[in-house]
Amino acid sequence: MSDKVLVIGGGISGITAAIEAAEAGMESVIVERNPSLGGRVAQLYKYFPKLCPPYCGLEINFRRIRQNPAISYYTLSEIESVSGSEGNFTATVRINPRYVNEKCTNCGDCAAVCPAERSNDYNFGMNSTKAVYLPHDLAFPMRYVLDKSACNSVCQACADACQYGAIDLNMEEKTVDIAAGSIVIATGWDPYDAARIENLNFASIPNVITNVMMERLAAPNGPTSGKIKRPSDGKEVKNIAFAQCAGSRDENNLAYCSAICCMASLKQATYLRDADQESKAEIFYIDLRAPGKYEDFLRRLEEDDNVTLTKGKVAKIEEDNATGDPVVTVEDILGGGKIKKQFDMVVLAAGMEPAAKNGGIPLNIPFEDHGFVDGDKLGAGISVCGVARRPDDVTTSVQDATGAALRSVQVTARAVQTAGGN
Ligand SMILES: Cc1cc2nc3c(=O)[nH]c(=O)nc-3n(C[C@H](O)[C@H](O)[C@H](O)COP(=O)(O)OP(=O)(O)OC[C@H]3O[C@@H](n4cnc5c(N)ncnc54)[C@H](O)[C@@H]3O)c2cc1C
Repeated sequence: MSDKVLVIGGGISGITAAIEAAEAGMESVIVERNPSLGGRVAQLYKYFPKLCPPYCGLEINFRRIRQNPAISYYTLSEIESVSGSEGNFTATVRINPRYVNEKCTNCGDCAAVCPAERSNDYNFGMNSTKAVYLPHDLAFPMRYVLDKSACNSVCQACADACQYGAIDLNMEEKTVDIAAGSIVIATGWDPYDAARIENLNFASIPNVITNVMMERLAAPNGPTSGKIKRPSDGKEVKNIAFAQCAGSRDENNLAYCSAICCMASLKQATYLRDADQESKAEIFYIDLRAPGKYEDFLRRLEEDDNVTLTKGKVAKIEEDNATGDPVVTVEDILGGGKIKKQFDMVVLAAGMEPAAKNGGIPLNIPFEDHGFVDGDKLGAGISVCGVARRPDDVTTSVQDATGAALRSVQVTARAVQTAGGN
């Protein structure tokens, strides 16, 4: 029997489940496929509704991990196989080589001499990093990583430049077996591929971006150092449109509502408004969803004369060839007819797709119709939390993850009872 909880995914939900279980007296281990923990939240500029930086919350959790020897984690890792049953699982974990060991001090000497570049996935490809890079400036663990697929295999410049012996170009993939009593799936979401929404022309109009790109554009550690500039020509954005339900609630794309996109666009309108008092934002929506505690936030935006909320579905986006401006055609739901308007930039409020449905978890997972994990049908000892279960905000994901931790505690309690009963 093992009282260890195996958590798959190290976003805010997985981190929370691991910490809560460990603080209730269990051991927990997080398996994360990226080089650092934090998940998608680490890519946000600010959290709604308080508009504080997400790193406040993440940093507290990283401290709880650092201070608790009952919590361990593997980054750049994925589960290869799982056998056994409740109370007695064995998971084989593949740990991909980082090529940078724990001697790394983040001095950056390796990146300074690295001749190769790679697209920066942290900034959704809006800039690049060297092949050896720090995932981002608040990464946990704070350690460089080498993307060998981006570099010339005979180059040793990074290893030669590192005075601490932290670069190990011969590091190899490893596997470890983990014994666990329970498993928590916390694999979260990926942004919906906006190129698939044909009428909105994300792939062909540079100044049509997605909501996740907007988070990075506004962030001081983003590709434009926090200045909201449009991609085609670097012009500062003064007049922005948000197209709600971009691909969502649409049988040809994502048939469901991602629950947070309205709040995300309202929040992103404040990014522009706070940066430039003359700027204007217009949000085109079908229904504005700002439930419960979020209603005050919506009211605040409604009171801003430079924010316009227009009930209308964006039917088409074209480009004005002379200026590069996107031109939106909107079906005006209240007034009838069509509205045609030109903006500096358009943000598509695209939805969240469950990462689990694309594989990576070698368990017999029951999915509900939209590809989220159906928690009610999972086998004994396995639970799901956060956006892997359903699209949600951070607060609700954290509550859900705390529930998953409790279910893992219950697995151990059942095992102890059974052992006592015998
Ligand atoms: C544009 C936008 C703005 C948002 N702004 C806010 C906001 O201001 N406030 C708010 O409350 N919410 C906001 N949200 C929602 C918020 O991002 C989610 O609630 C949150 O990310 C959920 O966390 P999670 O841990 O469930 O998933 P994730 O953040 O997706 O974390 C999942 C983790 O699992 C890892 N993983 C995936 N598959 C595997 C695998 N097979 N093996 C190992 N690891 C794996 C991933 O790499 C990732 O690290 C926003 C969402 C969007 C789209």
